[in-house]
Amino acid sequence: MAAIGRDLKGLDAVFVTHEHSDHIRGVGPVCRKYEVPLYCTEGTLRRMNGSLGRLPGFIALSAGEPRVIGDLRVEPYATPHDAEEPVAFVVESGGLKLGHATDLGRVTAEVVGKLQNADALLVEANHDVDMLNAGPYPWSLKKRVQSDVGHLSNEACGELLAAACHDGLKTVVLMHLSETNNHPDLAEITARQALGDCAAAMVLARQDEPTRLMDVSPL
Ligand SMILES: [Zn+2]
Ligand SMILES: [Zn+2]
Repeated sequence: MAAIGRDLKGLDAVFVTHEHSDHIRGVGPVCRKYEVPLYCTEGTLRRMNGSLGRLPGFIALSAGEPRVIGDLRVEPYATPHDAEEPVAFVVESGGLKLGHATDLGRVTAEVVGKLQNADALLVEANHDVDMLNAGPYPWSLKKRVQSDVGHLSNEACGELLAAACHDGLKTVVLMHLSETNNHPDLAEITARQALGDCAAAMVLARQDEPTRLMDVSPL
């Protein structure tokens, strides 16, 4: 946040999709230090409770039940992932819509439905299937990543983008790229092909640096 010129003191809430450690490390300290409530499903809370410590506030989320925070409307929807009650989010504000889909093993009709008509899409492009299969992960982990409740490959990400792209789509952010089993160029090429003539700007999120602030309001 500091690196992109934003102060954590302006934070109003923390939303968590599921309990896997790459998503919750630091959640307890941030919520405590800035006195902000945590929003996640009961299932997520149950699974991470031991590692969180005291929370200044907790608001339970349920798939399909939107929450309003300031001028944001945040709707969680269920995702196919090997966690307890995992969700992803659709965020709406001032007539703009941002569709998020990371940590999911397959592209379901519900996911495609939730991401329709978005101004910006934040989608997972986790791995290249050939790199994963030829790479150093143990056999069981390779199977887990590729399972129906694992992570989206570049191709599956492309499927999702092809199904959700429309003339009004302005920005696509590729997220949750594996540093071991993917290459940013492969993820981007596949996503661009899937988008076809759609002129959306593309940004690749990195694990080791913040993504720049993006304006998705109409030109
Ligand atoms: Zn996960
Ligand atoms: Zn994850």
